[in-house]
Amino acid sequence: MNNYRKETLCVQAGYKPKTGESRIPPIAQSTTFFYGDTQSMADCFDLKSADFFYSRLANPTVAAFEGKVAALEGGVAAIGCASGMSATTLTTFTLAGAGDNVLCSQAVYGGTFNLFGTTLPKLGIECRFFDPDDSEENIERLIDGKTKLIFTETIANPSIVVLDIEKISRIAAKHGIVHAVDNTLATPVLCRPKEFGANIIIHSSSKYLDGHAAALGGVIVDLGNFVFKGNPRYSSFNEPDESYHGLVFADLPSAQFATKCRAQMIRDIGAIMSPENAFLSYIGSDTLALRMERHSKNAAAVAEYLDKHPKTEKVLHPSLAGNKYHALAQKYLPEGQGGMLSFLIKGTSADCARFMESLKLITQETHVADVRSCVLHPASTTHRQLSEEDLKKAGVPQNLVRLSVGIENIEDIISDLDQALAKI
Ligand SMILES: *Cc1c(COP(=O)(O)O)cnc(C)c1O
Repeated sequence: MNNYRKETLCVQAGYKPKTGESRIPPIAQSTTFFYGDTQSMADCFDLKSADFFYSRLANPTVAAFEGKVAALEGGVAAIGCASGMSATTLTTFTLAGAGDNVLCSQAVYGGTFNLFGTTLPKLGIECRFFDPDDSEENIERLIDGKTKLIFTETIANPSIVVLDIEKISRIAAKHGIVHAVDNTLATPVLCRPKEFGANIIIHSSSKYLDGHAAALGGVIVDLGNFVFKGNPRYSSFNEPDESYHGLVFADLPSAQFATKCRAQMIRDIGAIMSPENAFLSYIGSDTLALRMERHSKNAAAVAEYLDKHPKTEKVLHPSLAGNKYHALAQKYLPEGQGGMLSFLIKGTSADCARFMESLKLITQETHVADVRSCVLHPASTTHRQLSEEDLKKAGVPQNLVRLSVGIENIEDIISDLDQALAKI
């Protein structure tokens, strides 16, 4: 299956029915699974068998979606989580504990910024934020013997910063640290961070993967290219796990990270994807390749329109030749730069509000990256907890409007923007 191209994987990967079974993954709406003998069940508990036994650990419908996303990202295993945030949290807990630290790009989703900046420090995991555009030397200076993770985002939401994946992966590899990339807004259709050295992929499948704003979810993909064996940073992978009869995760033949994450973190914390959400996400992602093509095309057209408009100060979309990230986007996102753009209105927060309230087709939503176009004013919503200084660090000035361009007809999108801009 992994030899097929992405358009094929979107519709075919993750589930293969046997004769007489349903063509699309059925919703296995069951907490538990039947076993006729004691040994088979015991083997499940010992990780000797990959059969299903309890839906907090694994479920057939969730497995279908996990298989599809793993195939799309070129990974060896994936874990469907309750949300994108839980995917990030579970990934961090699998690698780091109290006394450890992580490096996180400052150009990340607001929720990720809060998780690393506020919540994890309360549990003793320190976060060191860095500017992803900074030099390798400056970023490296933040690393010490306790650094367990470098966390970045392919296309940062809402600052639309395109990540130089290879640069960060090079730093991570040099120091033997796991590099996890949140690939939510690029999707594996537009970018596969594995090709540039990333080790783990995080998705909020609530966005483009589902694509219809129907199901909350997250996915962790283990790309299978990180060597835990003998790496002194990751003693928890190299020491026996007493809760699995002394299993050493680094000794597993593959999917060491995903196995530890599921066997320990999913088992103990339980933030797993529900079968129904996995079903919706699975069928939603059938059209991912087609949708990303249209999202990218529409957003590039909107960016060009807004860029010329006298009432905008600046438009952030890497399709624009003058964009700071245009060159990086040509390398990492050559087939399309996605549907997310931000722009600065010439004016105040109040002008942003007037513009947004005047829109008729495009709606105000916290959500992004689904088929419908929507807008948001981050400074007064998703990022309102942040101080003026942190807003600047996150690339979110007061007059910035985030626009998630949907797959509607481009003429309709532009005429809605046009009439609303005229109201300012
Ligand atoms: C939405 C989002 C998240 C969080 O995902 P949830 O499914 O809402 O928990 C993480 N990263 C990015 C880039 C996002 O857009």
